[in-house]
Amino acid sequence: MSGDLTSQRLLAVYLLHWQDGTRQAQHYVGITDHSRIDARMREHQAGRGALRTAALASNGRGFALARIFTTYNRELETTLIDQGDAISKLCPVCRGATPLENYRPTKRAAGLLPPLEVERTVYAIHARPGRQP
Ligand SMILES: [Zn+2]
Repeated sequence: MSGDLTSQRLLAVYLLHWQDGTRQAQHYVGITDHSRIDARMREHQAGRGALRTAALASNGRGFALARIFTTYNRELETTLIDQGDAISKLCPVCRGATPLENYRPTKRAAGLLPPLEVERTVYAIHARPGRQP
C-alpha cells in the first residue's frame, strides 16, 4: 500500500443498515470501486462481503443500502468507521428515510444451502452465461 490516500479511481464508500427490531440498528461502512457497487452488494447479500456482514446475513436478516458517498478519497472510509455508534447520525434510514436498496440474505448466506449447491450457485454468478468470449 502506498501512503497516498487519494485515488484516481472513483470510489463508493457505502453505509449498510441492519435492523432486527429489538436492538439498536447495526451499521457497516465499506468501500469499493464506484462501478462495482451493485456487485459488492450482491457479495454482502450472499455472505461473501466481509466477516461481520456474513455474520449478520447468517441471522437471516436483510440489510439496507442506506447511503453512498462518492469520493476519490480512501480515507473517507476510515473517517466514517471512526464515528462508531455516532454513524447513525449520518444514516438516512435511522432518520426515517427510505433506503436506496433493500437486500434480503441469499439462501447461502442464511446457511440453508448444502456446500455443493453453494459452489454451483457461485459458479453460475461468475459464469455469466451467454457472455463468454
Ligand atoms: Zn441506520
